[in-house]
Amino acid sequence: MNASTPLASRASYAGITLYAPDRRPCAIDLSDNTNLWGAPPGAQRVIAEAASPSLTRYPQLYAGTLKDALARYVGVSPDHIVTGCGSDDVLDSAIRAFAEPGDRIALPDPSFAMIPIFAQMNALEPVLVPLTSEYDVNVDRMLAARAKIVYLCSPNNPTGAALARASIDAIVDRAPGLVIIDEAYAEFADANVLDLAARTDRVLITRTMSKAFGLAGLRIGYAIGSPRLVQEVEKSRGPYKVSGLAERAAVAALTDDIDWVRANAASAVRNRKRFAAELARIGSSALPSSANFVLVPVPSAVHVAAALRERGIAVRPFERLVAQSGTALASTGGDALRITVGPWELLDATLGALREAIG
Ligand code: PMP
Repeated sequence: MNASTPLASRASYAGITLYAPDRRPCAIDLSDNTNLWGAPPGAQRVIAEAASPSLTRYPQLYAGTLKDALARYVGVSPDHIVTGCGSDDVLDSAIRAFAEPGDRIALPDPSFAMIPIFAQMNALEPVLVPLTSEYDVNVDRMLAARAKIVYLCSPNNPTGAALARASIDAIVDRAPGLVIIDEAYAEFADANVLDLAARTDRVLITRTMSKAFGLAGLRIGYAIGSPRLVQEVEKSRGPYKVSGLAERAAVAALTDDIDWVRANAASAVRNRKRFAAELARIGSSALPSSANFVLVPVPSAVHVAAALRERGIAVRPFERLVAQSGTALASTGGDALRITVGPWELLDATLGALREAIG
């Protein structure tokens, strides 16, 4: 590799690891936890009918109309909301706003793969703290890192497990700095921690319209926190991060399509349970999940994913994930497949292909 090697084919650039999951097209794509029922109809209508000013004019500086709609959806006032170009952007901006180069950011291991990358991009030291044997956050070790920022993800990607409320509370009570709680998959879970954002001004909760709302292509994320917190994130984020068309489509989804979102999230939860039961019947057990995906420990996950891709199904393989001894994940050396839950016919096809690939 040298300076003339195209960026996309390098594993790292200027010392920063590139995020490069396999995104090749596939007939059935269960690899990225998006909404496999489609996009919300109201949002699609806005895009189809887009008039010229939506394209020629700059959007709002800080997406004020979207903030209002998100505030109504979440049940807070608009001064508690900051938006961004996907929750990736909100997370990156928050990290930059609340930590200086050289500071530590503590996060569970495994968790959302972008966080160590954002840490590198912002010259922070990531401190990875293995999950417990219950796939919960290790409170004492997390706090022992004395990190400027603690990142938690609940339900956690890639395990799918919701963190215990008592663990989250203990960290929020005792952490020295900001606690970011990533709730990208909140719509699929039984509980959330929104109340914390109202109770303390050291908690920032990030969310996205990429998953339950089916709008990953529009890149809309947001965070909920005290007005002081969200102002700092907004300063580090900068203006014009949500395009005008994306804002209008997202507002339509939040106004007209909430029933559509809730119905599909309920289908995802039903199918997740049914899929887990069927997996158990073929001898593969999924980790308990509160998200729209399941993590299925399998040996040689990369090979199994390749065999599934040959059968027209894309899933996300993980190799050597950190796992406590005695857990299902440890039994495969930390290898596992993360499979997005969608309409049943896609999962049924996956079960058939898995049976062949593993068998
Ligand atoms: N957080 C978690 C836990 C995720 O899984 C993802 C998407 N992979 C994101 C944040 C980022 O989502 P987006 O930027 O599309 O809002």
